[in-house]
Amino acid sequence: MVRKLSLPPISSSEAVHKSMLSNRGRDTGPEKALRAALRRHELSGYRLNWKGAPGRPDIVFPESWLAIFVNGCFWHRCSRCDLPLPKTNRAFWRGKFELNVERDARKRKDLKTAGWHVITLWECEIKKDVDRCVRMIERRLNTYRPTGRSPRRPSSARIGTRTRARHRPPRTSSAGRARTSGRTRG
Ligand SMILES: [Zn+2]
Repeated sequence: MVRKLSLPPISSSEAVHKSMLSNRGRDTGPEKALRAALRRHELSGYRLNWKGAPGRPDIVFPESWLAIFVNGCFWHRCSRCDLPLPKTNRAFWRGKFELNVERDARKRKDLKTAGWHVITLWECEIKKDVDRCVRMIERRLNTYRPTGRSPRRPSSARIGTRTRARHRPPRTSSAGRARTSGRTRG
């Protein structure tokens, strides 16, 4: 399904090397900063890399069907930053980045197909003003109030091979409980 590339070549650039080290999966700097800000704003009820959502987004609020991706500008090719390709092995990097961008688009599409709302936050936005990012999340959470069952809950017929039934957020008997504190203080 996903083409795999071999290990990246040794980078001649210290900056690229550092960026590679700092962008491995979970617990990247921007993601930590965002989670700290979510705690500061007392927004709870989210899960990290939750298996219940297609593509395991970085952060999901299952009760509100809200999925959040935290994208590093280098790896995910932020159009605002438009960071240059590494000077060496350009073909390798170009191919790798194309796969990353394709994968990101596919994940967003799969989530939307399954009825999720999707927010993509970029490293540069988080670095610039993390509180603004959290306010955006908060607004979305207030818009997508948990109803216990979503009107856009996908029927099994619409779910493709990549998004199976287990990808549904759980039925909840305590809709909204986890988020009450965030909303009342909003
Ligand atoms: Zn950026």
